[in-house]
Amino acid sequence: MFPLKLIIFVALVSIVAAGPWGTICAGNPSNRVRGCDRHGCGHYGARRARGRKHRGVDVICNDGSTVYAPFSGNIDRRVNPYRRNNAINNGLQLRGSGFCIQMFYIRPVKYRGWISKGQKIGVMLPMRRVYPGITSHVHIQNCDRSNPTHNL
Ligand code: ZN
Repeated sequence: MFPLKLIIFVALVSIVAAGPWGTICAGNPSNRVRGCDRHGCGHYGARRARGRKHRGVDVICNDGSTVYAPFSGNIDRRVNPYRRNNAINNGLQLRGSGFCIQMFYIRPVKYRGWISKGQKIGVMLPMRRVYPGITSHVHIQNCDRSNPTHNL
């Protein structure tokens, strides 16, 4: 019976997030990271256009899904991922619990103030309207641009 127990154990473990952060997107309880699609790959350090590197991690999130605060902290300000505006050009900076991150491509519920871990922090914007065929995702980057993946 050992293999069956092992399978059940792995299944149970895989439904909860592994790092200190809570679930970021409804429908993705384990904070699964975007793989590769025609627009690029979602892991930290992935190659981007013009020799640049991806300095965040992309957590899979369907367009229109509820997005949660991964930890308790203070929302500092709005942060826009792009200089030129588009339908997904919104986000915020969240600081607290020993972390500081920026979350992109969400419409925040507010731009300032306290929020507790697991509370609704925003809604995933319509990414597939801007990038057809992409795996929609919340982009999470540390304020110091270090690798945040182990916190997921
Ligand atoms: Zn990203």
